[in-house]
Amino acid sequence: MKAAVIKSPGDIMVEEYQKPVPGNGEVLLKVDACAICGTDQRVLKGEKHVDVPIVGHEISGTVLETGNGVSDIKKGERYAVQTVIGCGTCPMCTISRENLCENGFKAIGYQWNGGFAEYMIMPKEGVEQGCLIPVDDQMSDEEATLLEPLSCCINGMRIIPLEEAQTVLIFGGGIIGVLNGLVAKVRGAKSICIMDVSQDRLDLLKKLDLPFNHFVNSANISPEVWVEEHTHGRGVDVVVVAASVKALVKQGMSLLARDGHLSIFAGMPKSEPTEIVDLNMIHYSEFHIHGANSSVKRDYIEAEQLISSGLINCSTLITHVFSLDDFNQAVEVQGNPKSGALKVIIKP
Ligand SMILES: [Zn+2]
Ligand SMILES: [Zn+2]
Repeated sequence: MKAAVIKSPGDIMVEEYQKPVPGNGEVLLKVDACAICGTDQRVLKGEKHVDVPIVGHEISGTVLETGNGVSDIKKGERYAVQTVIGCGTCPMCTISRENLCENGFKAIGYQWNGGFAEYMIMPKEGVEQGCLIPVDDQMSDEEATLLEPLSCCINGMRIIPLEEAQTVLIFGGGIIGVLNGLVAKVRGAKSICIMDVSQDRLDLLKKLDLPFNHFVNSANISPEVWVEEHTHGRGVDVVVVAASVKALVKQGMSLLARDGHLSIFAGMPKSEPTEIVDLNMIHYSEFHIHGANSSVKRDYIEAEQLISSGLINCSTLITHVFSLDDFNQAVEVQGNPKSGALKVIIKP
């Protein structure tokens, strides 16, 4: 089969690779589509380590073959791939929170070969955990790749009371900022503001007909001033930090209304993840601080329903589609802020 193989950091070759054969309990998928994510970019450049030569974890595929002992997955069915696979026995896995597996979860595209290939294996552990998520017949292969990032946003937002939120402020106009905004909107948040320092990015988002109220260039307009004006000095109800900039956590907290919620969606640079915050702000204003780490099956199922019902329209977010042969060009386009790319997808 053809695959995009990491030879060394920054050197990715599209070449022949041995087509996998499904063993006991495994499922062989024909990869229909696989989206490039920011994490893939870091892996491809060698900034983040994975155990396998083929990455890609935002995957939709069709079952080609099943190994011995697989009964409820049938040839020809279409699925989105759930990335995270837990140990299956720890207390978090026991309550289906494999994203918080106490033994450290493993993932497709990290510990198992991913979707930048013509075929891939869903391992036995994944099949047993239910990591093949059925997708509606009407959903395109490309849209189905968005279940993964959307599920992560659904998870990150799960316990934030968006139904009561007047204003949600999102730092970061990338796909994750946008998907968080769409989740906030569908859950009933009244007003959604995306802040980014790239005018190119904001212009792109404005063209996509997103159901958001404000697109603010925070390099030109101070977030403090904007929030003061738009909330009559009360502050916003929710801030989502969807950019790996630790100063935004502190700044975001200063913009919150009382009883406000701050979601640290983005991981921070490992070298310097700490930020000094005023603990009395949390104490006296009763702030709520949220983490977000991948997602589990319930989040994928909700994502599937939101897309297939049309409540969330993802098709406009897919700006580019490339063949596997053009993998390196696709990576380049996805990584270039001037390219007008939001979601870039490979169709092997
Ligand atoms: Zn991803
Ligand atoms: Zn576990």
